[in-house]
Amino acid sequence: MPDSAPVLPAGPVKPVVYTVALAAATAGLLFGLDVGVISGALKFLQADFKAQGYDVTDAMLEYIVSGLLLGATVGAVACGWLSVALGRKRTLVISAVIFILGSLGCAYATSPLMLIGMRVFLGFAVGIASFITPLYLSEVAPQRLRGAMVSMYQLMITIGILAAFLSDTYLANYAVIDGVTGGHWRLMLGVLIIPASLMLFAVLTLPESPRWLLMRGREAEGRSILTRIRSLPQEVDAEVLAIKQDMAVPQSGFRMFLRNVNFRRSVYLGIGLQVIQQLTGINVIMYYAPRILETAGLDTDIEQLWGTVLLGVVNMVATLVAIAFVDKWGRKPMMYAGFVIMGIAMAAVGLFFQLGSDTVSPYLAMGALIVFLAGFAVSAGPIVWILCAEIYPINGRDFGITVSTATNWIVNGIVGVTFLQLLTGIGAANTFYLYGGFELLFFIFFICFVPETKGVSLEQISANLLAGKPLRNIGVSKHHD
Ligand code: BGC
Repeated sequence: MPDSAPVLPAGPVKPVVYTVALAAATAGLLFGLDVGVISGALKFLQADFKAQGYDVTDAMLEYIVSGLLLGATVGAVACGWLSVALGRKRTLVISAVIFILGSLGCAYATSPLMLIGMRVFLGFAVGIASFITPLYLSEVAPQRLRGAMVSMYQLMITIGILAAFLSDTYLANYAVIDGVTGGHWRLMLGVLIIPASLMLFAVLTLPESPRWLLMRGREAEGRSILTRIRSLPQEVDAEVLAIKQDMAVPQSGFRMFLRNVNFRRSVYLGIGLQVIQQLTGINVIMYYAPRILETAGLDTDIEQLWGTVLLGVVNMVATLVAIAFVDKWGRKPMMYAGFVIMGIAMAAVGLFFQLGSDTVSPYLAMGALIVFLAGFAVSAGPIVWILCAEIYPINGRDFGITVSTATNWIVNGIVGVTFLQLLTGIGAANTFYLYGGFELLFFIFFICFVPETKGVSLEQISANLLAGKPLRNIGVSKHHD
């Protein structure tokens, strides 16, 4: 059992590492743009298609929104295979190409059905990006920057969501094109070709992941890339050795899942983490913020609009805080703080709904949503993706990440389609109390099952896992045993 995994030597971080991370994280930007862009376009595309004689019901709109989630689930699953067969870089390139073609297809969709189809197609790219980016970043990042680099991806998602929202706002209300003011939904969707092309250029410059090359037996190439991105020769040697030790476990993927009980535990942990991330209720707010603000008593469009922008800004800024501290404070303390903040905020939103907007100012409800978002963005937002990129042994990493990323999209879809029914079924107050209660359960789950992985090499984590240590201890480095 490779329980003697080396603690890797660490030289200064080369600037090229940051460029590589930034280029790879453009995939996160597209993820955020495509998730964020649709809410602002719905109203206009519905009116437009209706004017052409199509019967665009609310259910049809839901399909247009959730087509992306369906495609993303399939994309994430396919990516498990693609990233092994073609390598990390080529998979990123494929996703950039789909982003470009999908955006074009959405902009030129001639019927609602075609638009749904195009959203599913675009979803493949989002699913691939959500799978491959954290994986790639965790494989090229030096150990002590791993958390921060995977959080870069989350930061890009939040920037994408905010940018999409601002661009939608401009094209919905202010832009005058051919004498028509606002409502330019085709442009809202089509303009994403620009960042998608940027992503394509960025990912074409990336080096292949040294880990993948070693997995394919291409050691010389792997070494030469490591030499480019690490500063000390002994770092390169140690990392190559560590990857080889990691690969010494002879099974992979599904086979390993069936046969190796220790690997299975990490897969269940990854599933649990992604279920938790989605059941915090984040996307209830992402998809329905204007509606929630309206229910809370913010009457005018402009208030709802700027309220939502503010939420986007808080999401982004708090993610920056996460990046700054995740490798210093560790994953678990930040998650604990996040759950407490999110739990209190959700309960407060519930209480405001219970008391009603005649008794309580809607701005207090807005404040509670802001607090919730800050709590999410410093914890479950980035840290779940970080942990899911860290907990699997290399031979099962692609399988593990496939399963956990698909879980993210499936539960995302479930939350999306149940929220409005919950609102009408059990009422707004109870819906938010329910989510508040989840945060408490998740706090306990973290205490019992989740490891602290700060500053521990991926090889050490997998050695601990495969040696049968309890999940919450697989991040203990041998110095502390
Ligand atoms: C989640 C998304 C969410 C986003 C919000 C991501 O980590 O996976 O579902 O929309 O954070 O910033």
